[in-house]
Amino acid sequence: MTAGVRLIIMGRQGAGKGTQCQRISRHYVVPHISTGDILRAAVREGTELGKMAKQVIEAGRLVGDDIMIEIIRERLEQDDARTRGYILDGFPRTVAQAVALDGIAAERPIHSVLDLDVPRDLVIQRISARRVCRDCGTNYVATGQKRDPWICDSCGGDVVQRDDDTPESINQRLDLYESQTSPLLEFYGQGGRLVEIDGSLSPDEVFEALTVAIDVARTSS
Ligand code: AMP
Repeated sequence: MTAGVRLIIMGRQGAGKGTQCQRISRHYVVPHISTGDILRAAVREGTELGKMAKQVIEAGRLVGDDIMIEIIRERLEQDDARTRGYILDGFPRTVAQAVALDGIAAERPIHSVLDLDVPRDLVIQRISARRVCRDCGTNYVATGQKRDPWICDSCGGDVVQRDDDTPESINQRLDLYESQTSPLLEFYGQGGRLVEIDGSLSPDEVFEALTVAIDVARTSS
Protein backbone atom coordinates (compact mmCIF):
# COMPACT_ATOMS: atom_id res chain seq x y z
CA MET A 1 0.00 0.00 0.00
CA THR A 2 1.40 3.44 -0.94
CA ALA A 3 1.51 6.29 1.59
CA GLY A 4 -1.40 8.70 1.52
CA VAL A 5 -4.67 8.46 -0.30
CA ARG A 6 -5.73 10.32 -3.43
CA LEU A 7 -9.44 10.64 -3.98
CA ILE A 8 -12.02 12.43 -6.06
CA ILE A 9 -15.52 12.94 -4.72
CA MET A 10 -18.35 13.51 -7.16
CA GLY A 11 -22.07 14.08 -6.91
CA ARG A 12 -24.68 16.70 -7.61
CA GLN A 13 -24.53 19.98 -5.71
CA GLY A 14 -26.11 19.28 -2.33
CA ALA A 15 -25.24 15.56 -2.36
CA GLY A 16 -23.28 16.02 0.87
CA LYS A 17 -19.78 16.28 -0.61
CA GLY A 18 -18.67 19.15 1.64
CA THR A 19 -19.75 17.41 4.85
CA GLN A 20 -18.25 14.05 3.90
CA CYS A 21 -15.01 15.65 2.66
CA GLN A 22 -14.46 17.30 6.05
CA ARG A 23 -14.84 13.92 7.73
CA ILE A 24 -12.63 12.09 5.22
CA SER A 25 -10.01 14.81 5.52
CA ARG A 26 -9.85 14.34 9.31
CA HIS A 27 -10.03 10.53 9.20
CA TYR A 28 -7.25 10.02 6.64
CA VAL A 29 -5.39 13.25 7.48
CA VAL A 30 -5.47 14.48 3.89
CA PRO A 31 -6.11 18.00 2.63
CA HIS A 32 -9.64 18.66 1.38
CA ILE A 33 -9.16 20.58 -1.86
CA SER A 34 -12.39 22.22 -2.97
CA THR A 35 -12.18 24.30 -6.14
CA GLY A 36 -15.40 26.09 -5.13
CA ASP A 37 -13.74 27.14 -1.83
CA ILE A 38 -10.57 28.23 -3.66
CA LEU A 39 -12.64 30.40 -6.03
CA ARG A 40 -14.78 31.86 -3.21
CA ALA A 41 -11.59 32.76 -1.29
CA ALA A 42 -10.30 34.55 -4.41
CA VAL A 43 -13.63 36.42 -4.66
CA ARG A 44 -13.31 37.55 -1.02
CA GLU A 45 -9.71 38.66 -1.57
CA GLY A 46 -10.72 40.60 -4.70
CA THR A 47 -7.92 39.16 -6.87
CA GLU A 48 -8.13 39.18 -10.69
CA LEU A 49 -9.18 35.53 -10.56
CA GLY A 50 -11.78 36.41 -7.92
CA LYS A 51 -13.30 39.23 -9.98
CA MET A 52 -13.74 36.93 -12.96
CA ALA A 53 -14.94 33.98 -10.84
CA LYS A 54 -17.57 36.12 -9.09
CA GLN A 55 -19.37 36.84 -12.35
CA VAL A 56 -19.16 33.24 -13.54
CA ILE A 57 -20.34 31.77 -10.22
CA GLU A 58 -23.23 34.22 -9.93
CA ALA A 59 -24.32 33.38 -13.47
CA GLY A 60 -24.28 29.65 -12.56
CA ARG A 61 -21.70 28.87 -15.25
CA LEU A 62 -18.31 27.09 -15.10
CA VAL A 63 -14.90 28.78 -14.92
CA GLY A 64 -12.73 27.92 -17.97
CA ASP A 65 -10.89 24.58 -18.02
CA ASP A 66 -7.41 26.10 -18.53
CA ILE A 67 -7.70 28.28 -15.43
CA MET A 68 -9.05 25.46 -13.26
CA ILE A 69 -6.40 22.99 -14.45
CA GLU A 70 -3.60 25.44 -13.55
CA ILE A 71 -5.11 26.04 -10.10
CA ILE A 72 -5.16 22.28 -9.43
CA ARG A 73 -1.70 21.68 -10.93
CA GLU A 74 -0.22 24.24 -8.52
CA ARG A 75 -2.18 22.97 -5.54
CA LEU A 76 -1.24 19.32 -6.07
CA GLU A 77 2.45 20.27 -6.26
CA GLN A 78 2.38 21.49 -2.67
CA ASP A 79 4.05 19.29 -0.04
CA ASP A 80 0.93 18.23 1.85
CA ALA A 81 -0.74 16.93 -1.31
CA ARG A 82 2.43 15.21 -2.54
CA THR A 83 3.06 13.35 0.70
CA ARG A 84 -0.38 12.83 2.26
CA GLY A 85 -2.58 12.81 -0.84
CA TYR A 86 -5.87 14.70 -1.08
CA ILE A 87 -9.58 14.60 -1.51
CA LEU A 88 -10.61 16.63 -4.54
CA ASP A 89 -14.07 18.20 -4.37
CA GLY A 90 -15.51 20.09 -7.34
CA PHE A 91 -12.70 19.05 -9.68
CA PRO A 92 -12.73 17.63 -12.29
CA ARG A 93 -16.02 19.02 -13.58
CA THR A 94 -15.51 18.33 -17.27
CA VAL A 95 -13.90 15.50 -19.25
CA ALA A 96 -11.12 17.91 -20.35
CA GLN A 97 -10.30 18.56 -16.66
CA ALA A 98 -10.32 14.80 -15.94
CA VAL A 99 -7.92 14.08 -18.82
CA ALA A 100 -5.59 16.85 -17.60
CA LEU A 101 -5.75 15.51 -14.05
CA ASP A 102 -4.63 12.05 -15.22
CA GLY A 103 -1.53 13.77 -16.65
CA ILE A 104 -0.89 15.82 -13.49
CA ALA A 105 -1.34 12.75 -11.27
CA ALA A 106 0.55 10.35 -13.55
CA GLU A 107 3.30 9.64 -10.98
CA ARG A 108 0.91 9.23 -8.07
CA PRO A 109 -2.41 8.12 -9.54
CA ILE A 110 -5.86 8.59 -8.03
CA HIS A 111 -6.94 5.63 -5.87
CA SER A 112 -10.66 6.03 -6.18
CA VAL A 113 -13.46 8.20 -7.59
CA LEU A 114 -16.39 8.23 -5.18
CA ASP A 115 -19.80 9.23 -6.53
CA LEU A 116 -22.39 10.29 -3.95
CA ASP A 117 -25.62 9.41 -5.69
CA VAL A 118 -28.62 11.50 -4.56
CA PRO A 119 -31.77 12.12 -6.69
CA ARG A 120 -32.30 15.62 -8.08
CA ASP A 121 -35.47 16.45 -6.09
CA LEU A 122 -33.76 15.55 -2.81
CA VAL A 123 -30.70 17.73 -3.52
CA ILE A 124 -32.95 20.71 -4.37
CA GLN A 125 -34.58 20.34 -0.93
CA ARG A 126 -31.19 20.06 0.74
CA ILE A 127 -29.61 23.04 -1.06
CA SER A 128 -32.54 25.31 -0.23
CA ALA A 129 -31.92 24.62 3.48
CA ARG A 130 -28.10 24.83 3.21
CA ARG A 131 -26.22 27.52 5.12
CA VAL A 132 -22.46 27.84 5.11
CA CYS A 133 -19.79 29.59 7.18
CA ARG A 134 -18.34 32.43 5.14
CA ASP A 135 -14.90 31.90 6.72
CA CYS A 136 -14.25 28.17 7.14
CA GLY A 137 -16.88 26.64 4.84
CA THR A 138 -18.60 24.48 7.51
CA ASN A 139 -22.08 23.47 6.33
CA TYR A 140 -25.25 23.87 8.40
CA VAL A 141 -28.93 23.10 7.81
CA ALA A 142 -31.55 25.82 8.31
CA THR A 143 -34.44 24.48 10.38
CA GLY A 144 -36.86 27.35 9.82
CA GLN A 145 -35.98 28.88 13.18
CA LYS A 146 -34.61 32.41 12.71
CA ARG A 147 -30.96 32.78 13.83
CA ASP A 148 -29.74 36.30 13.26
CA PRO A 149 -26.79 36.63 13.47
CA TRP A 150 -25.82 32.99 12.99
CA ILE A 151 -22.29 32.36 14.23
CA CYS A 152 -20.20 29.34 13.15
CA ASP A 153 -19.58 26.77 15.95
CA SER A 154 -16.14 25.92 14.48
CA CYS A 155 -14.58 29.33 13.90
CA GLY A 156 -17.01 32.09 14.96
CA GLY A 157 -17.50 33.29 11.36
CA ASP A 158 -20.84 34.42 9.85
CA VAL A 159 -23.13 31.59 8.72
CA VAL A 160 -25.00 32.65 5.56
CA GLN A 161 -26.87 31.34 2.54
CA ARG A 162 -24.53 31.13 -0.45
CA ASP A 163 -25.25 33.76 -3.13
CA ASP A 164 -25.54 30.96 -5.72
CA ASP A 165 -28.04 28.90 -3.68
CA THR A 166 -31.10 30.63 -5.20
CA PRO A 167 -33.68 28.32 -6.90
CA GLU A 168 -32.85 29.66 -10.39
CA SER A 169 -29.11 29.22 -9.94
CA ILE A 170 -29.55 25.80 -8.32
CA ASN A 171 -31.54 24.51 -11.31
CA GLN A 172 -29.04 25.94 -13.75
CA ARG A 173 -26.13 24.31 -11.89
CA LEU A 174 -27.94 20.97 -11.76
CA ASP A 175 -28.56 21.17 -15.54
CA LEU A 176 -24.86 21.90 -16.02
CA TYR A 177 -24.01 18.92 -13.82
CA GLU A 178 -26.12 16.59 -15.97
CA SER A 179 -24.69 17.86 -19.24
CA GLN A 180 -21.02 18.38 -18.42
CA THR A 181 -20.14 16.43 -15.32
CA SER A 182 -22.13 13.23 -15.58
CA PRO A 183 -20.06 12.15 -18.66
CA LEU A 184 -17.22 11.96 -16.15
CA LEU A 185 -19.00 9.08 -14.45
CA GLU A 186 -18.72 7.20 -17.72
CA PHE A 187 -15.06 8.25 -18.09
CA TYR A 188 -14.12 6.95 -14.63
CA GLY A 189 -16.50 3.99 -14.84
CA GLN A 190 -14.71 2.72 -17.94
CA GLY A 191 -11.37 3.06 -16.18
CA GLY A 192 -12.69 0.91 -13.31
CA ARG A 193 -12.05 3.65 -10.75
CA LEU A 194 -15.65 4.65 -9.98
CA VAL A 195 -17.45 3.61 -6.78
CA GLU A 196 -21.15 4.51 -6.41
CA ILE A 197 -22.27 5.37 -2.90
CA ASP A 198 -25.93 5.89 -1.92
CA GLY A 199 -25.80 9.51 -0.72
CA SER A 200 -29.43 9.58 0.40
CA LEU A 201 -28.54 7.59 3.56
CA SER A 202 -27.72 9.30 6.88
CA PRO A 203 -24.37 11.16 7.08
CA ASP A 204 -22.93 8.41 9.35
CA GLU A 205 -24.02 5.63 7.02
CA VAL A 206 -22.61 7.46 4.00
CA PHE A 207 -19.29 8.00 5.82
CA GLU A 208 -19.12 4.31 6.75
CA ALA A 209 -19.70 3.28 3.12
CA LEU A 210 -17.07 5.76 1.94
CA THR A 211 -14.37 4.51 4.32
CA VAL A 212 -15.03 0.88 3.33
CA ALA A 213 -14.66 1.82 -0.35
CA ILE A 214 -11.54 3.92 0.26
CA ASP A 215 -9.82 1.21 2.32
CA VAL A 216 -10.50 -1.39 -0.36
CA ALA A 217 -9.10 0.92 -3.06
CA ARG A 218 -5.95 1.70 -1.03
CA THR A 219 -5.13 -1.90 -0.15
CA SER A 220 -5.58 -3.06 -3.72
CA SER A 221 -3.28 -0.38 -5.20
P1 AMP B 1 -18.99 24.43 -5.86
O1 AMP B 1 -18.75 25.01 -4.50
O2 AMP B 1 -18.12 23.21 -6.13
O3 AMP B 1 -20.46 24.18 -6.16
O4 AMP B 1 -18.49 25.53 -6.91
C1 AMP B 1 -19.09 26.81 -7.00
C2 AMP B 1 -18.90 27.36 -8.41
O5 AMP B 1 -17.48 27.53 -8.67
C3 AMP B 1 -19.40 26.48 -9.53
O6 AMP B 1 -20.78 26.65 -9.75
C4 AMP B 1 -18.56 26.96 -10.71
O7 AMP B 1 -19.03 28.23 -11.19
C5 AMP B 1 -17.20 27.24 -10.05
N1 AMP B 1 -16.33 26.03 -10.09
C6 AMP B 1 -15.92 25.28 -9.04
N2 AMP B 1 -15.13 24.25 -9.45
C7 AMP B 1 -15.05 24.36 -10.80
C8 AMP B 1 -14.41 23.58 -11.81
N3 AMP B 1 -13.69 22.47 -11.52
N4 AMP B 1 -14.54 23.98 -13.09
C9 AMP B 1 -15.25 25.08 -13.40
N5 AMP B 1 -15.89 25.87 -12.52
C10 AMP B 1 -15.80 25.50 -11.21
